[in-house]
Amino acid sequence: MNLEDFLRGTAKPIALLGTAAYLTASVACNNWLFPPPTASIPPNSIPAAAVLQEENLAVIRKYQPKLADIIAAQPWYTDRLTQPKKIYADIGLIKVGIARPGAGYLGDKVMLDGKERDIAIIYDAGLEKTANYAAATIKRDLPKIQSFTNLPISWSMIAVNIQLGPERVAAGHSLAGIAKIFLSFPNYDVDIRDIILHEGGHTVYEQDSKTSPIWYRETMPELAGVFASDGEQGLVKRLSLLEYPGRPPLIRTKPLSQFTLQDHINGEAEHVTRGIYLLIKFRKSAGEDNFAAFIRDTDTLKRTRQITDADLREQMLLHTPDQLKSNVAAMYDLEVFGTETQTNQK
Ligand SMILES: [Zn+2]
Repeated sequence: MNLEDFLRGTAKPIALLGTAAYLTASVACNNWLFPPPTASIPPNSIPAAAVLQEENLAVIRKYQPKLADIIAAQPWYTDRLTQPKKIYADIGLIKVGIARPGAGYLGDKVMLDGKERDIAIIYDAGLEKTANYAAATIKRDLPKIQSFTNLPISWSMIAVNIQLGPERVAAGHSLAGIAKIFLSFPNYDVDIRDIILHEGGHTVYEQDSKTSPIWYRETMPELAGVFASDGEQGLVKRLSLLEYPGRPPLIRTKPLSQFTLQDHINGEAEHVTRGIYLLIKFRKSAGEDNFAAFIRDTDTLKRTRQITDADLREQMLLHTPDQLKSNVAAMYDLEVFGTETQTNQK
């Protein structure tokens, strides 16, 4: 789903917002599920966008003056008042959150990629403990998630909306300078660290991103989360669980390229398990630096256009030492396309 279409109300996010949107911690979706703002703005209506920004900020100021000051100081906010071609509705979404009856606000900061970024947590009444826990987790773990590949961070603020809801829904994303995490649970008795790790991973690995294959999109935050929790040892351990001697072969119901968003929403986990296997194996073969360069170049590419399984293959091989290219290609083709091509190349 395209976020801008969603916010304008022209997309149909039924699959994500309907009763099927019961997402487990490890396979939560990365789409942004804040309720759309009530005002509807015609596309490309630049003056209206700037006016809406100011109106939204005025509402936020009424409830949380401190948060309004922080927003007004963000580069993405001042940019959009002068160059409002970027998406304009983000603070409308914060407004929707903050204006809920009894909503609380918690401000903090996280040092990330060499710069301090604002954390704004908006939470339903009674969820203060969860909000504090979320802030602490972001401060401790998001820098580790970023350091996994040293991917540059383009946002200056992370807004986290924590609310009570009938279903478990979690989402993370970043766009035009602001990162967002949305968590909606019937209750918060569960440990939400893994969920914040995963959705926080999306704010790092899904920045201003066009679509990419679902297996890749959902594997990277999960893999970075393993690294944030347990470092290199965590990756080694995860791989050993997937291929210890005598273990039966990984269950491969279909090639990774055939997994769909609907599989993911249905709670399928195979594409993530096998994605983790493929990416750790690649990292082990090509080395940490090549892996990080692969992630960075792929990130650059997917900011400009939708990327495909063929793009990922090409990027991977570009960052593989020559003598290993045929092995990496064969492994990729088997997992992603289900074909056993190119195994004879030396
Ligand atoms: Zn996800």
